Amino acid sequence: MPQGENSCDVLIIGGGIIGCAAAYFLLSADKNLKVTVVEKDLTYSQASTPLSLANVRIQFSLKENIEISQFTQEFIKKFPEKMEVDEDRPDLCFRKEGNLFLINSKNKDRALKDLELQKEMGCRADWLEPQEIESKFPLYTAHSAAGGTWGPDDGYLDPHSFLNGFRQKAGSLGAHIIEDRAVKLIKSKKRLQGARLQSGKSISSLCVVNAAGAWASELAETASVSLPIKPIKRQVFALKPAEKPGSPLPLTILPSGLYFRTETGDKILSGRSFGDDPEGFDFSWDPEVFRERLWPELAEFVPSFDRLRIERGWAGLYAVNTLDENAVLGEWPELKGLFLANGFSGHGLQQAPAVGRYLSELILGKKPVLDLSIFTPRRILESRPILESAII
Ligand SMILES: Cc1cc2nc3c(=O)[nH]c(=O)nc-3n(C[C@H](O)[C@H](O)[C@H](O)COP(=O)(O)OP(=O)(O)OC[C@H]3O[C@@H](n4cnc5c(N)ncnc54)[C@H](O)[C@@H]3O)c2cc1C
Repeated sequence: MPQGENSCDVLIIGGGIIGCAAAYFLLSADKNLKVTVVEKDLTYSQASTPLSLANVRIQFSLKENIEISQFTQEFIKKFPEKMEVDEDRPDLCFRKEGNLFLINSKNKDRALKDLELQKEMGCRADWLEPQEIESKFPLYTAHSAAGGTWGPDDGYLDPHSFLNGFRQKAGSLGAHIIEDRAVKLIKSKKRLQGARLQSGKSISSLCVVNAAGAWASELAETASVSLPIKPIKRQVFALKPAEKPGSPLPLTILPSGLYFRTETGDKILSGRSFGDDPEGFDFSWDPEVFRERLWPELAEFVPSFDRLRIERGWAGLYAVNTLDENAVLGEWPELKGLFLANGFSGHGLQQAPAVGRYLSELILGKKPVLDLSIFTPRRILESRPILESAII
């Protein structure tokens, strides 16, 4: 691999959770590697990572997605010690308050099948009848659902600590993290050679990781690589109910996709992915969306939420893989040296540890501990979607 002042073994474009996790695993595997991370905005004001709900769940239908979450659940237990730098340990503030998916009768068989797989794989997850849901969570009116799937080990963490933990540790292991924007991928014939930056500098590298999140397609396009990944706006609303919920409410997902959970300070966070959410880099949020499109359904399910105040809100971007809403992981078959870690849609934060490790294994030519080849970018060229039924 080329060496020199403006060259590195691995160039990672995008310093969000995926880019930083990849840098951490690469350097943990080989401390002599020269790894550079280029991040266009080190305040992360528009990055998806800090704008996410930071939920971690084993409730997926695809074996590989469940395995990824199992690895994450174990990894975050050891996160503070693994990411310790100068005796400073990040605190992820993981709150294991569970995830509850309400299921309608049309989807009950599918949900029971998914539960069976999760249990076979050693996960804790259960089916709850409507009356069991109502006695466990007395604020809920679950009678119109067929029941729900309950994952007691699911929960959420602090996305800032998660990102900073990986970033600081990768830096302490030798990652060179610079603030600049990659404006063009440089290639010669069918091989990537590096990237040109907005500052005018170029960095040469025979291995470039596209970890640009919602900007992934924009970056890939500069090397004439077309990805089916689109930035789609998702809004989140922070609410203050007139009546305190009393005890924490799990991340609860209604059959429509509307979700809510408690947040510190007696608040509720709520949102929903809509088919008509706009594409593009739009970060505006509109409380009317909550009032008109979410509140009626929310208050029907939790009657005491018919009186609440919208305290604030925000919009972040999902990097939606329009082929199948699953991750795209691995080297692009038509351009040697371009590694993709993109298209995570709404579940990339929790996949960062397994994805970072997998990328490092692929790049270093090691046998992956977890076989994630199902997420190969080749399926894009072959128009071969993989099905995950638990997409939020
Ligand atoms: C509202 C919302 C809720 C979510 N909830 C969850 C959840 O509960 N659980 C979960 O697992 N996931 C959730 N997600 C998804 C999750 O946030 C993302 O999948 C994950 O953060 C993706 O990480 P990333 O590093 O790929 O992207 P990002 O965090 O966006 O990082 C990409 C980085 O690349 C940088 N960049 C882009 N282009 C360039 C360039 N050309 N040069 C240099 N730098 C560049 C950007 O500035 C950015 O910092 C949610 C997302 C949103 C928006």
